[in-house]
Amino acid sequence: MTAQRIDGNALSQQLRAEVATRTAALKLKGITPGLAVVLVGDNSASQVYVRNKVKACQDSGLHSVLEKYDASMTEADLLTRVDALNKDPSIHGILVQLPLPAHIDAQKVIEAISPAKDVDGFHIASAGALMTGMPGFWPCTPYGCMKMLESIGYDLKGKHAVVIGRSNIVGKPMAMMLLQKNATVTLCHSATKDLKAMTLQADVIVAAVGKRNVLTADMVKPGAVVLDVGMNRNDEGKLCGDVDFAGVEQVASYITPVPGGVGPMTITMLLVNTLEAAERLAA
Ligand code: NAP
Repeated sequence: MTAQRIDGNALSQQLRAEVATRTAALKLKGITPGLAVVLVGDNSASQVYVRNKVKACQDSGLHSVLEKYDASMTEADLLTRVDALNKDPSIHGILVQLPLPAHIDAQKVIEAISPAKDVDGFHIASAGALMTGMPGFWPCTPYGCMKMLESIGYDLKGKHAVVIGRSNIVGKPMAMMLLQKNATVTLCHSATKDLKAMTLQADVIVAAVGKRNVLTADMVKPGAVVLDVGMNRNDEGKLCGDVDFAGVEQVASYITPVPGGVGPMTITMLLVNTLEAAERLAA
């Protein structure tokens, strides 16, 4: 069996077209969804990420502002900026790009963002809403994974999903979203004793570790759906995921490639969250 690829670029294009249509409709009511992206310091990867986010907003007709600050910015000054953005009616979503310089308490800054504008879904109120099934913003990467499963018409009810990685931004919210769709969920991490024994039972596997070849073909049940969140570099310096793609592709029924899989979906779901923040205000 050769797995079908779930194309994150194609699905993103489709979802971004829907965002553009809904944005145009909102504009007719006098509201332009607005995202503020705040970057502190000169981390080169962060600079690329924020540029891509701002460009994606512009391409879909959303208003976006990029605020760049020197690495020496104080925590107090950053909190003051967040407070001003919370009060700015032209801004519906606020994203503070992580990581922040070491002298700034990132959690404190995230908690300062109004939950109504927390389009990254990292605020403790957003995490609590996801946990309890209340309305709130879902973190973009696992939300994108859910959209990918939806795009292939996959019914999670009664399925066994194994998530590898338990970070607050990917693994844990991913597990909650799968649970909400009635999957039976196993959450694995670095202290999991026999990862292969877990993954071999899985109908759906989400790999979110940040290490190459964490998932190989011998660890996958034939016909399983495999979503690869990882972003790593191979020996040639090329982007690759956590999954041994060439091997697992021969066993799985569906698989997401890296690049061109989960990555583009993350930015797309940021646009969706920002649009929804503006729509909630308009409702
Ligand atoms: P993270 O915070 O470093 O978490 C990694 C998780 O993997 C931890 O829970 C860790 O367990 C677990 N782990 C480490 N080694 C393991 C092993 N051998 N077996 C099983 N679990 C193991 O990373 P993250 O922020 O969740 O990101 C994970 C990956 O996704 C990274 O490559 C990141 O770049 C990528 N990512 C991609 C996107 C995207 O848009 N495509 C977005 C976000 C992240 P412990 O908790 O026990 O330490």
